[in-house]
Amino acid sequence: MHAVAAISQSALAHNLSVVHSYAPNSKIISMVKSNAYGHHLDLVKPLMQADILAVSELNEVRSLRKLTNKPILLLPGIFNDTDLQEAIQLNCHLVFHDLSQLTVIKNSKDPINLWIKVDTGMHRLGLPIDQLEQTLSQLKNHSNIHIETVMTHFACADEPTHIKNSQQFDTFSKLNIQHYSRSMANSAAIMSLDKSHFDYVRPGIMLYGASPFSNIDEQLMPAMKLSAPILSLKTIKAGESVGYGATWTAKKDSRIVTIGIGYGDGYPRHAKTGTPVMINNTLCKLVGRVSMDLICVDIGDLEVNVGDIAILWGDRKLRVETIASYSGTISYELLTGVSSRVSFIQRA
Ligand SMILES: *Cc1c(COP(=O)(O)O)cnc(C)c1O
Repeated sequence: MHAVAAISQSALAHNLSVVHSYAPNSKIISMVKSNAYGHHLDLVKPLMQADILAVSELNEVRSLRKLTNKPILLLPGIFNDTDLQEAIQLNCHLVFHDLSQLTVIKNSKDPINLWIKVDTGMHRLGLPIDQLEQTLSQLKNHSNIHIETVMTHFACADEPTHIKNSQQFDTFSKLNIQHYSRSMANSAAIMSLDKSHFDYVRPGIMLYGASPFSNIDEQLMPAMKLSAPILSLKTIKAGESVGYGATWTAKKDSRIVTIGIGYGDGYPRHAKTGTPVMINNTLCKLVGRVSMDLICVDIGDLEVNVGDIAILWGDRKLRVETIASYSGTISYELLTGVSSRVSFIQRA
């Protein structure tokens, strides 16, 4: 008896169709980096119906190539010849974001699909604006290099009214790159800024059914349901405490269940007392500290038996965004952090 993450194929397919309805005229790049945001690459086949897939490591390209023939975009690109050779063999499109990548690319005779990343204000990856034109014309001299798209990334798209969004959009739209496809929008921009859709959109978190914004979005369906069994049920007396540090004390006699999941499985250690846990379709409250293997929950008067299954997140009534906000983090971190001792299974 231990924790299970069940990945809903119909939810993934539905969320991909939501992307399509937001951006009907754009091609879709399914962002499946970080092992498909923690959902496991081999369990997200519906996302492979997109036009392209994107990952952040050559390792992930290798795994993904066993599952699909679609083009794969390697987000950091490559920095040495060995990786370049392998990437080409795997039919990988490469992001070019830094001039240090130029020598390796230029020395190759093989056909290469490049996506040029330009920095419009996030200042993480991407060529500075003033290097773009010269780099494009240098690369164009090589007949084996095909420049597929010019792309950039928003810093603040999850805050739709942030001034930085229009600044980055204006900078990108004014670039002299009309001859290339363009790509700008992540999930938040797909949902809030139509004009940023351009030729390719790059949804990540929304594919997995979590909102990129601080509010919950009912049209997205949670793809990962994380559950764990109830291992014990006991009644404790008023004044008794629960868990490490004795941080929670019962105000009245209380029925407490202990559930077989903890931070060793990726349930957040910082989840506060009061974080909802769903048991037999009812939301109950976490009490005391999260341990490595266990959490404790106050079930009130609820009818519960040892062996019943608790849902930690991934129900329409208990979304990972809620657990993230009770834990001082974001859904992305919780989803990517489910550990390898959890069993991953596919569900309809
Ligand atoms: C991860 C990533 C995305 C997707 O972001 P979401 O907020 O999950 O939609 C888009 N573009 C790039 C370059 C990324 O690295």
